[in-house]
Amino acid sequence: MTEAISRVKPAENPLTMETFVNQTLDDIFSACTRCGRCVEVCPTVPFSGLSDAAPKDVISDVLSSLRDDVTMSADADKWISTCNGCGDCIPACPEDINVRQLISMANSKVAKNKDKTPYAFRKMARAIRIMVGMQLIPDDVARLLRPKAVRDADVIFYTGCNPIRTPHVLFNVMTMLDELDVDYEVMGGTSACCGVVHSKWEGDLKTGGRVTERTLHKFGDFKPQKVLNWCPTCQIHLTETLKGYRKVEFSFDHITKFLLEREEELISRFTTPVNMQVAVHTHSGVPEVGAAVMRLLRAVPGLTIVEELQEPAYMCGASGSEKALEMKEHYRAKTVERSKCNDIDALVTLYHACHLQLSSDGRKHGFQTINYTDILVRAMGLEPCPDTVEPYRAIGDWEQMVHEAKPYLEANNIDIDTEELIAVLPEVFTSAEFKGGLCRFAPQA
Ligand code: SF4
Ligand code: SF4
Repeated sequence: MTEAISRVKPAENPLTMETFVNQTLDDIFSACTRCGRCVEVCPTVPFSGLSDAAPKDVISDVLSSLRDDVTMSADADKWISTCNGCGDCIPACPEDINVRQLISMANSKVAKNKDKTPYAFRKMARAIRIMVGMQLIPDDVARLLRPKAVRDADVIFYTGCNPIRTPHVLFNVMTMLDELDVDYEVMGGTSACCGVVHSKWEGDLKTGGRVTERTLHKFGDFKPQKVLNWCPTCQIHLTETLKGYRKVEFSFDHITKFLLEREEELISRFTTPVNMQVAVHTHSGVPEVGAAVMRLLRAVPGLTIVEELQEPAYMCGASGSEKALEMKEHYRAKTVERSKCNDIDALVTLYHACHLQLSSDGRKHGFQTINYTDILVRAMGLEPCPDTVEPYRAIGDWEQMVHEAKPYLEANNIDIDTEELIAVLPEVFTSAEFKGGLCRFAPQA
């Protein structure tokens, strides 16, 4: 799952994204025996009202509608639209088809005919700009988002787009890279998007392909050995859905893989006990990330891991667990109940979207949340970057939040009417663009 994007030189094989997707689907049409195993093992099925559907029929309907470009049956549409990326279907396929890749491409095709989240990218870009502009002084915004002068750098730390909403976790990673004396530059934000929003959410493969290609070129300009990625959405899109699309000369790995490669050096710097008893929230979708985090946390002096609380899906949030909402609520209730217990001081969060959601749950249900990066930085005897989102959300009053945010927004040259901001913040803070909301940020007719 963390293989580099495979090596196909654009000049020799200038596939468009659309051709690439069609060729991949053609290969899947030929290889798939319609055995239905992928649907049988899918954990969303009992939560999506598909228990009575014949698995063979569901997958057959998905494939024939894609091949013949006709509308999917309700069951097939339900199955692909509730896919939370948990990955359970991948090892289950006897033909070695990556079913998650198939479903991602199927969702692109469906979105092309009926975009359920119109202008998702445009809305997301404005929402992120506001969220980061509320939290950081301009110098810190620049550390994350200002385009860097091109130079040869060993490593690019790639933040992705949405993780910018929780900047403290990214700054914590940068603290670790600094301590490990890594030669790196930071790249991310919507100007360096992986292209998933255009391709998968908007069904616009042409723009998606262009965005992906531009970002890969931006990485390549720095001649890095490694691009270290934070966001699992980018990871799956660039290394799994688009596997074979373009050649790159660097490895594309999750940041936790790199930290494990430098494990000995990192752990030798864990000089400060973090005296806490914690539960750790992980996800099944990209299991090596959770496993790496567990391994690193086990090396932190003073830290007791009481339990790992794994939720299905590849991540929390609209593109992950919320795709199968009933299922998410089932597992989330268990996470919340366990986190409230007296033997746990805090719930450790995994990704940016997990942190945003679980911090809300923690505030509501009276337990503390902390990101794993925070613990690793503390163990190194350093000061973690404070969570700058949670103090806003703790205010609990949108008008007061806007009052607090105004000086930051002005300093960051973000000019938005106060009343509009009050109206839009609840959607900005919940990524409503991925549920078809945030319509104020869509172009007006
Ligand atoms: S990735 Fe998970 S949710 Fe999606 S189809 Fe496969 S098993 Fe089902
Ligand atoms: S498990 Fe594999 S071969 Fe069987 S229906 Fe699913 S994709 Fe096709």
